[in-house]
Amino acid sequence: MQREAINDVSPFLDLPPLSAAEFAAIEDQVAALLHTEADVIVTQGEALLPLEAAIRGAAHPGSTALNIVTGPYGQTFGNWLRSCGATVVDLAVPFDSAVSAEQVAEALRADPGIDFVSLVHAEAATGNTNPVAEIGAVVREHGALLMLDAVASVAAEPLLTDEWGIDLCVIGGQKAMGGPAGVSAVSVSERAWERITANPAAPRRSYLSLLDWKERWTDAGRAVLPHAPAQLEMLALGACLDRIAADGLPAVIGRHRAAAAATRAGVRALGSLSPFVTEDAHAAPVATTLRTPDGLHAGEIAARLDPALPVQPGGGALAASMLRVNHYGAAASLDTVRACLAGLAAATDADAEPALAAAGAAWKANVEA
Ligand SMILES: *Cc1c(COP(=O)(O)O)cnc(C)c1O
Repeated sequence: MQREAINDVSPFLDLPPLSAAEFAAIEDQVAALLHTEADVIVTQGEALLPLEAAIRGAAHPGSTALNIVTGPYGQTFGNWLRSCGATVVDLAVPFDSAVSAEQVAEALRADPGIDFVSLVHAEAATGNTNPVAEIGAVVREHGALLMLDAVASVAAEPLLTDEWGIDLCVIGGQKAMGGPAGVSAVSVSERAWERITANPAAPRRSYLSLLDWKERWTDAGRAVLPHAPAQLEMLALGACLDRIAADGLPAVIGRHRAAAAATRAGVRALGSLSPFVTEDAHAAPVATTLRTPDGLHAGEIAARLDPALPVQPGGGALAASMLRVNHYGAAASLDTVRACLAGLAAATDADAEPALAAAGAAWKANVEA
């Protein structure tokens, strides 16, 4: 494939560097979005950068981590934790459900030495979401640090970082925020800073170092940026934060909630496919995963769809039996949900009309909820 050359004057080129004040203002907007008073570090890379930085900052030989696995990202975190020399207790639940606070409390009781907990809020890949408020309360009572991957939940569902006791909250711009993938952020609580500062194995003088940002940027009064800002991504992140503020966060969250409810209701009316996540309360607002009928490969259904639709087969072991409808960002709309349902109806020889009617009713009930 050849990409089209940009020969006209491009808005991407010859940009002045972003100032320290502009960078700090964007961090403050992220802090407001996360409902946190903690330090927010905007990291210049895809969200895996702050996720790895948070784990390598907090974990070390001698520490014990409870790694909650509700999808593929949990597996990645476990591997990083082990490579830091931490003892890892994996708490895995079936990917079509959510972990409960009781399960987490039980795992913490079984191993009082656990001092770090990693959790994914919403999993776009499996379509589930976990009850972070309740889990945060049991983790705080135990005294461990809580790291949350909120990449697929920020702006799609409530995210109350301080109230829920999240010590390291990681977000990326590319899902419900409708922003760039090349910039991300992490909030760091006072307790988390203490742990990372005291960890001799925490990255220092490294691109993965949160401590470098603390020393050279946050504690230094955010006056001079430690290195050149990725101005394109930062401008795009600023623009999507401004747009969320203009639309109102509750309205953005409402669109995502309604898109998930409408997709689930529509799919149930179709009959040819079924929601992969069985309970509505466990379903993520960013993406709805679907179970394909026996004998029909997800790739075969996907191949019959208009490639412009945000529907893709599942990843890894779920590639044959799962389809994923991504309804985040601009796609969190009734039009997109209707187009996906109509496409899925045609691809599975089902009647679209009842599905479209059910989706419309669910959209209306949820967007106004
Ligand atoms: C999307 C997502 C990320 C970011 O990873 P990508 O591979 O860039 O999509 C991280 N965590 C979760 C839970 C996500 O859904």
